[in-house]
Amino acid sequence: MSQTTNQKNIQLIRGFKDILPGETELWQKIERTAISLFEDFGFREIRIPIMEKTELFARSIGEDTDIVEKEMYTFADRRGDMLTLRPEATASICRAYIQHKMAAQDPVRKFYTIGPMFRRERPQKGRYRQFYQIDAEIFGVAAPYADIELIFMLRTLFDRLDVTDTTAHINSLGCPACRPRFKAALAQLLSEAAPKLCSDCNRRKERNPLRVLDCKVPGCREAMAGAPSILDYLCADCRAHFATVTDTLSRLGVPFEIDKQLVRGLDYYTRTAFEIQTGALGAQSAVAGGGRYDGLVESLGGPATPAIGFAIGFDRLAEIIAAGAPVTTRPPDLFIAALGETARQQAFEWSVALGVAGIGVSMVYADKSLKAQMKQANRQNAGRVLIVGESELAAGTVVLRDMASKSQQEIPVKGLIDHLVKALC
Ligand code: ATP
Ligand code: MG
Repeated sequence: MSQTTNQKNIQLIRGFKDILPGETELWQKIERTAISLFEDFGFREIRIPIMEKTELFARSIGEDTDIVEKEMYTFADRRGDMLTLRPEATASICRAYIQHKMAAQDPVRKFYTIGPMFRRERPQKGRYRQFYQIDAEIFGVAAPYADIELIFMLRTLFDRLDVTDTTAHINSLGCPACRPRFKAALAQLLSEAAPKLCSDCNRRKERNPLRVLDCKVPGCREAMAGAPSILDYLCADCRAHFATVTDTLSRLGVPFEIDKQLVRGLDYYTRTAFEIQTGALGAQSAVAGGGRYDGLVESLGGPATPAIGFAIGFDRLAEIIAAGAPVTTRPPDLFIAALGETARQQAFEWSVALGVAGIGVSMVYADKSLKAQMKQANRQNAGRVLIVGESELAAGTVVLRDMASKSQQEIPVKGLIDHLVKALC
C-alpha cells in the first residue's frame, strides 16, 4: 500500500490552536490599541524567552499552586537540564530585572510584553494549552498610585476596544505582617469544614489556606461562604493602601466591586489583587488578573523591590470582541485583471510598484478568462479593477473600472502608477 493513502493528516496538539486570517486582523487591532496606550503611559516593551529553568517558576509561582502542581510543560532537555515552557510572564520579567541589574540605574520601571504562555489544563472554550497574554508590570513603586494606574489603564484599554460588559473585582491580600492573623482565623473554619472540601483543598489547607477561598468546586464555595473577610484583618498600612486605591478609582470614575473571596492562585501576591470578570465566556469568567507582589524580586535574589502587574487573557478578550462584531478581511485596493502573457508580465510589474507605494493589489497569475477574473475581484470585494488587455496595452491604454458604480475609464499607460496612486490613496 502506498504510504500517502495510509497516513492520517497531522493535526495540531490538543489545546493548541491556529489563529487564522480573518481572526488575526482583530488580534492586531487589540495589540496596536494596547501598545499605543501602554506607551502613552510610559511602559516599554520587554521580550523574554518562552522557556526558562523550571526552578524560576517553582520558586516564584509557588509549589502549592495549580500551575506548578499540575499545569506546567516541564521536561529534561538533551543534557538533563530541567526546563519549562513559561506559564506566565511575571517570573521571567523579574528574572530579567535582576539579571540585568536594572534597579542600579533606576529601580522604577514599567514594562509590557505580549506573547504565548503554556499550561497543560483541560481544554475548553476560553481555556487552551497555548494561550496568549498581554502583560504589564510596574517595578519599584510601593505607593498605591501604581495599583491605580494599572487598573485605570486596563479599564481604558477595554473601553477603547468597546468591551464594556465587564466588572473589575478588587481585594487586598494583606502583607506578611497581617496575613498570618487572617490565616489563623481561616484555619479554624477550614478544620471544621474539612469533610466538605475537595481533596485538593484538603491537601492545601495547611500549606496554603488562602487558596481554598479561590477554589471553584461548588462544595468548597459553599463551605467557604461564611469565611471571615481578609479586609477585617488588614494592618493599618495595608488598610490605608487599600483605601487610597478604592477612593481614587472611584474619583477617576472606574467602576469596581470589592470582592473578599478574590485571592488569585499564585503565592507571590501581596496587598491589591484584582480581576476583570465577564459573563460572556461561560465558566471562564476572568479576562484579566493581576496584583501586587512586593516580596517577589527579593525572594528571587534581587534587591527589595515592590512591584505590581496584570495579565490579560488575549484569547478570551478576542473571543468577547469577535462575538459582538465579526471582523472581515481587508479587501484589496485594486484588482488587476490581465489578459494574455504579455499583459500579465506588465501588470505584475505594476502590481509590485503599487505595493511599494502602499496600494494593496490583488491579481491572478494563471491564465484565466476576463469573466473568471472579474468573479474573483467580486469575491475579494475589490473596489476597482484595472483591466489590462493585450491590444489596449499595445495602443498605450488600460481600463479602470469602478465596481460599485460600474463606470469605466480609459487611462494612458504613461504615468499610470502616479495616476493610480492619486486615484486610490
Ligand atoms: P483561571 O481562573 O481562568 O484559570 P488564572 O487565575 O489561572 O485564570 P492568571 O494566571 O491570572 O489566570 O492569568 C491571567 C489571565 O490569563 C486570566 O485572567 C485568563 O484570562 C488568561 N488565562 C489563564 N489561563 C488561560 C488558559 N489556559 N487559556 C486561556 N486564557 C487563560
Ligand atoms: Mg488557571
